[in-house]
Amino acid sequence: MRLIETERLTKVYQREGRWFPSANDAVPAVDRVSLHVEKGETLGLVGESGSGKSTFARLLLGLETATEGRLLFGGEDVTRWGFKRLRTIRSRMQMVFQNSYSSFDPLFTVERIVGEPLSNYGGMAARKRRRVILESLDMVGLGAAYAERYPHELSGGQLQRVNIARALVFQPELLICDEPFSSLDFKLRRQILTLLEELKIRLGLSYLYITHDLSSVSRFCDRVAVMYKGQIVETLPAARIAEEALHPYTRALLDAVPVQDPRLRRSKTGRPVGEPALPHGESVIQGCRFCSRCPAAMPVCTTVEPALERKRPFHHAACHLYANEAEGKASQTFQIV
Ligand code: SF4
Ligand code: MG
Repeated sequence: MRLIETERLTKVYQREGRWFPSANDAVPAVDRVSLHVEKGETLGLVGESGSGKSTFARLLLGLETATEGRLLFGGEDVTRWGFKRLRTIRSRMQMVFQNSYSSFDPLFTVERIVGEPLSNYGGMAARKRRRVILESLDMVGLGAAYAERYPHELSGGQLQRVNIARALVFQPELLICDEPFSSLDFKLRRQILTLLEELKIRLGLSYLYITHDLSSVSRFCDRVAVMYKGQIVETLPAARIAEEALHPYTRALLDAVPVQDPRLRRSKTGRPVGEPALPHGESVIQGCRFCSRCPAAMPVCTTVEPALERKRPFHHAACHLYANEAEGKASQTFQIV
C-alpha cells in the first residue's frame, strides 16, 4: 500500500528584485517529481545540496504549497487542503531535523523539548502527556532520568535520540529524516541507523531518508531515488545501486567525483566535468539538466529532456544513453574519470 505519493509535484520560486521578471527568473526547486513511499518502506532520497531534497520534504509536510502536481496521503488527495485540515495528517508524518543542537532551545529540558509538538497541538492532560514523553524517550533508549536534563548535558548521539523521540510522540506512520546524521561520527551514525531500523520493525514505520551521503543508503534503504536540480533522474533498489546504477549523475555520486574540483577531472570527451557545454550565461531551459556536467553528453541531450523511464524491473532512469536499450545497456560506452 502506498503511504504517500506525489504526481508531478512542482515548486517554482520566483527570483526577487527584478523589475521585469522573465521566464528565466522562475526557478523550479522541485520539478515534476513523481515518487511514492510504500507502507513499511525506507526510501532514500539522494542528491547534492541544493538539489531540492529538503524542499520536497517541506512540500510533503505541507510547509510549502506546491505550484503544480498532486500529493496523496493514504490514497487521499491532500494537495489543496487548508492548513487546519493538514494538521490532521501532519501528526502522521514527522520530521527528524538536520542539526540537533541548534534546533533545541538550550533553556528547555528534554521533557519539554520532546513534548513540544504535543503542546503545539494542545488538548492532552498533563499526566498522559508525561507518559507519552517518557515512552518516546524509552523507545530511543533514553531512560526517564534524561527527561530533566538540558541539551548541553547531552552528547551528539543523545541529542539525536531526543530528536527522534520528539518525532515519535504522535506515533507517526512516516518519518522524514533530513540529513539526520551529518554532525555525527561514523560509530554514532551506525548506532542511530540501527535504532531507526529497530523502530521501523517495532512501530511499523516508513522512512523518507534524505541524504547527500550514498554510503549509508545501500545498508539502510529499500529503494533509492536520485535527485538532480529538482528532478528525479534515477530510482532503483538500494542494494543494487553500486553495481547497477545507470545514470551518469548517480555514477558520479558513487565515484564521489562531481564537485570537489571538477576541473581536475577530464571526461572522455576532453571537456572537464563541471564545465558548461553551453556558452556562459545561457541557461539550459531544454534538454537534460545534467548536460553541462555529463561526460557522456550527446547532441540530443542539449535539446530533448530525457524522461524517467523503466530500464529494468524496478529500475527507472532519465537518460538518453539508454534510449534504445530495453535492458539498460548504454548505447555508447562512457567512463567517469
Ligand atoms: Fe548525460 Fe545525456 Fe544522459 Fe543527460 S541524457 S545524463 S547529458 S547522457
Ligand atoms: Mg537540505
